[in-house]
Formats: sequence, C-alpha cells, structure tokens
Amino acid sequence: MAVLVTGGAGYIGSHTVAALLERNESVVVIDNLQQGHQEAVLGGVFYKGDIRDTDLLDKVFAENDIDAVIHFAANSLVGESMQNPGKYYHNNVFGAICLLEKMKTSGVKKIIFSSTAATYGEPESVPVLESDPTNPTNTYGETKLAMEKMMKWFDVAHGVKFVALRYFNAAGAHENGQIGEDHSPETHLVPLILQVPLGQREHIAIYGEDYPTPDGTCIRDYLHVSDLADAHILALDMLREGGESNVYNLGSGKGFSVKEMIEVARKVTGHPIPAIVQARRSGDPAVLIASSDKIKQQLGWNPSRDSLEAIIQTAWNWHQKHPEGYGKQ
Ligand code: UDP
Repeated sequence: MAVLVTGGAGYIGSHTVAALLERNESVVVIDNLQQGHQEAVLGGVFYKGDIRDTDLLDKVFAENDIDAVIHFAANSLVGESMQNPGKYYHNNVFGAICLLEKMKTSGVKKIIFSSTAATYGEPESVPVLESDPTNPTNTYGETKLAMEKMMKWFDVAHGVKFVALRYFNAAGAHENGQIGEDHSPETHLVPLILQVPLGQREHIAIYGEDYPTPDGTCIRDYLHVSDLADAHILALDMLREGGESNVYNLGSGKGFSVKEMIEVARKVTGHPIPAIVQARRSGDPAVLIASSDKIKQQLGWNPSRDSLEAIIQTAWNWHQKHPEGYGKQ
C-alpha cells in the first residue's frame, strides 16, 4: 500500500516524504511545482500536476495502490490570499473537493490534512487549544477551515477519516542536509533573517515594534519541521489502526519574539544581522503559541528538536550549502 502525498515537493511536504521513506513506506507524490521543488522529493513515485486535474487524479489512483493521503497541496501566503481570494478558494477549496471526491470513488478513507493556526485568527487566550473559537482573519485561514469542515462532512457521509494538523510556525531543515526551506517569494522570518549573513540582504525588517508583548515584537511558536513531519506519521498510524477523525495543534508551546529570533540567529551565524523596525504587516496576531498537549497525550507525539538554537542551526547549515536554494547550488 502507498501513501499519496499531495504537495510533497514543498517545504513541509518534502520533510514528511523523507520521514515516510525513512520508515520504508511506499510514497507517491503529486505536486504542480508552482511552489515546490522536484529535487526536494527524495524518493517515491512523482507526478507533476495539479490535484484539480481530475484526469491526473484518475491516473494516479489507478496506477498506485493508495491506502491513505497526506494533503499539503495548497497556496499558503496570507498577504496574497487577501489580494486574490479567488485563487485561494479555487486552489485550496476546489482542490480539496477534487481530491475528496476521488478518494470517495476509490474507497480511500484516510486523510491527514495540513492545516494552520490561521484557522483561529486572533486568539482570545494563549496557549491556544483545539477547542478554542475559530475566527480566521485572512482568506488563507478561512480556506483551510473550510477544508477541515469539508472533511468532517465527508466523514459523516462517506466514512472518510481525517486528521487535521494545525501548524504553528515550522522552521529548520532536515538533519541530512539535503532538504530545507526555499520559497519564492520568501516571506518567512527564519530564511529572511539568514539571507543577511548570506550576503543577500542588508538587514532584516521587523514588522512592528508596538505590539502588546514584552519587547513590542510579535511572538510565535517555532517548531522543527521534522518534528512536524513525525506528527503526520503518528496520525497515519492512528487512522490505520481504525482511529476516529480529529484535530490537533502542532507547536512547541514556547513563544519567541521577532527580536529574540534575530538574536538567536546572530549567535548561531556569528553575524551582526542588522535589523530595521518597519510598519506592522497586516493580519499578524500579536502572540500565537500552541498547546500541543492533546496530540502528545492521544498520539504520543514527542518533539525532540526543541532548542531554538538547534532549529536555526539546521536551517543555517542548509542555507550555507544551498545559498540560492534548490537547483542552483
Ligand atoms: N516577520 C518580520 N519580518 C520579516 C518576516 C516576518 O518581522 O521579514 C514577522 C512576522 O510579522 C511574524 C513573524 O515574523 O510576526 C513570523 O512571520 P512568518 O511569516 O515567518 O510566519 P507567520 O507567523 O506569518 O506564519
């Protein structure tokens, strides 16, 4: 039996593919390579294409003995989602409909879904619990919440079991040094900070210093991408053992401010990394910290790469070896 990973050439997708291969799973990847990189897929069968292409889905499901799906394929930029909501509804929501319909007709009844803390919006309290209200403040989070809800009803109607994993901030790179974080355009804090010691930018911009936090900059919960990947494997095992649909947060439970992140990166890289305070970025909540107790208790998730310095070190190792990202080193 094979696991189909949609969006398996992306940042978190490729690390999950690596984790699946490390435990000798058969892996099939679909990725349209709009954001992903084929070099990031370290094995398995690869199909270049879009999940909204139903002919392609027919082919993939006919050619492989798929028993479960891990679904990453989606657009994920908050700012872009506010400029172009139609793109997000079409790719994320319609894409999920195509995939779930195909799973239904093929009798594939297990899906692990890449969801997000953006489903909560501005939290009423931290750490955020799965039972807290979901009021997304941007189109991206709204489409992910719509996808979660769609899965709930596919379970009710067709018995398709799902696990939605709501990620907080993924960071770092695989310890094997082969795969890491490479977005275009890059919007994420850690790779942008590391562009300064790489000589690719003069300074890092701090988006707002007037938040209600101790140093005035936003606080986020950063988790090593391989710990995130491991959670998908636990969810897969749980569904294979006949478990029920569920929603889990994935974070470290610890918050770091933008200024603290820059300070740790200075230590790791030995570079002064100049920072310049700019205006707030719209849609950024002040503090996002997860409670991940539920997945720890229910699935035994045990994130092991929990020092921020070590997380940034793995990212730094990868970026030094791949200063221009994939395909250009
Ligand atoms: N951020 C920043 N400067 C940058 C990029 C990000 O100050 O150049 C801040 C951003 O406002 C947020 C945090 O860093 O508070 C993490 O942003 P990122 O885009 O990495 O992840 P998000 O929390 O938006 O998912």
